[in-house]
Amino acid sequence: MPTSPTSAQPPTEPQRGPAPDASAPRPPEDVHGRHGAVSGTRGPASDEGRGPAVAAGRSAAVAGGRGAAAAEGRGAAEHRRPAPDRGRSLLGPALELVHTGRAPTRSALTGALDVTRATAGAVTGELEALGLITVDSRPAGGGRGRPSHRLAVNPAGPVVVATQIHADSLSVALAGLGGRLEEVRYLPLPDATDPVRMLRAVAEAGAELARATTRRCLGAGLALPNPVTEPDGTALAALHFAWPSGTPVADLFAQEVQRADFGPRARSPLPAAVANDANLAALAEHRHGAGRDARHLLLVTSGHRGVGGALVIDGRLHTGSAGLALEVGHLTVDPQGRPCVCGNRGCLNAETDPEALFVAAGRTPDPGGPILDQARRLARSAADDPGAADAVAHVVDRLGLGLAGLVNILNPDRIVLSGLHLDLLAAAPERLAAVVADRCLWGRSGRVPIVPAQVDHAGLAGAAELAWQPYLHDPQAVYAGRG
Ligand SMILES: [Zn+2]
Repeated sequence: MPTSPTSAQPPTEPQRGPAPDASAPRPPEDVHGRHGAVSGTRGPASDEGRGPAVAAGRSAAVAGGRGAAAAEGRGAAEHRRPAPDRGRSLLGPALELVHTGRAPTRSALTGALDVTRATAGAVTGELEALGLITVDSRPAGGGRGRPSHRLAVNPAGPVVVATQIHADSLSVALAGLGGRLEEVRYLPLPDATDPVRMLRAVAEAGAELARATTRRCLGAGLALPNPVTEPDGTALAALHFAWPSGTPVADLFAQEVQRADFGPRARSPLPAAVANDANLAALAEHRHGAGRDARHLLLVTSGHRGVGGALVIDGRLHTGSAGLALEVGHLTVDPQGRPCVCGNRGCLNAETDPEALFVAAGRTPDPGGPILDQARRLARSAADDPGAADAVAHVVDRLGLGLAGLVNILNPDRIVLSGLHLDLLAAAPERLAAVVADRCLWGRSGRVPIVPAQVDHAGLAGAAELAWQPYLHDPQAVYAGRG
């Protein structure tokens, strides 16, 4: 992360582990891979003017939130052909390729980075020395020709703490590299849902997981069900808990993370970052799920209440000028429709969320259980239940209107639907595609693929991506804060 203290300041420890092939000939691009990582990398966010002098907790919290977008900006297209003349490190792009499963072998990495075998060998050797990946030189078997070393994330390597605040619960998990969460733990909301109590509860739950592992903890990420401004990290319209608009959630979370005991193996101070859950879900889907390799990925999701959206362009989250882009929930899809929390009528929010499906079916959800789970079951029952099928058709038509508006504006090459929308897609895929196509200027000839999300706990998985972001940008940052 260009603006985090760890990437902007030289580590206090030796910057490199043993270089297994130090005697190998070193082509020009290797210089940056091996020596330029700490100070030579500047992503787009660094132009926004926050310098390394900012206090550690705040800087990490804010830089992390914005940094997801910043370092993502060095997306697939760019890191196929690094630009050493601009001082870019090869370590970060190489780690991201292994992290996202795009470079399962050293020869795949060599091709993806467009470097020599010797350079790829030096880069993988350094990432292995940093404890982040494993390099297996045993023959993979099968084909003729020289077998390539297999690359994988280090299963015993460091972890980050991923946390999420939902409308009705909290969730926490540890996550190594590779996009896989360890066991996900759900907790009830605390009795008092003011910002400090809530953020303390998630920080302490995350700290408990960090203390219980023998792996080093490098950061904490938090997904929130409300918009989060950039670069200052405040919560807007946090309607679930009636938090005051402008609550400084990035600062508060960073404070609570510093206050909690993450154990002796955690980096100190522990970087903490906060972002909106739909944005983070899109990031997780782009790196590890249904959005892989999409260049203009639109994600639309409906959780327990309301509708969220996110856009990933060339690997970079599009968050707008202040972090508030893609508020798709307030697109009008029926001017005479149901009232929305924003004060208008017929927003996508109010017309396609779980409650809307129940209203369309003329049924009442059981107040004792999560409404999202019940709505998903109702959507899935459409094949055998005519009442449910009619309700699904009603809601799918409105979802299609909203998606069509977005397609006309954004021209995505893939739409990923999650939450209840995933089940609506499964129940009526042709109807949904037809509504979208009918309303799109170019829809009849070239339909944009609408696919179901693949990542489990995507908000939480995205929170892990957020916490990993400084290290994907600069893997040598793992040396920082070592006690
Ligand atoms: Zn609205």
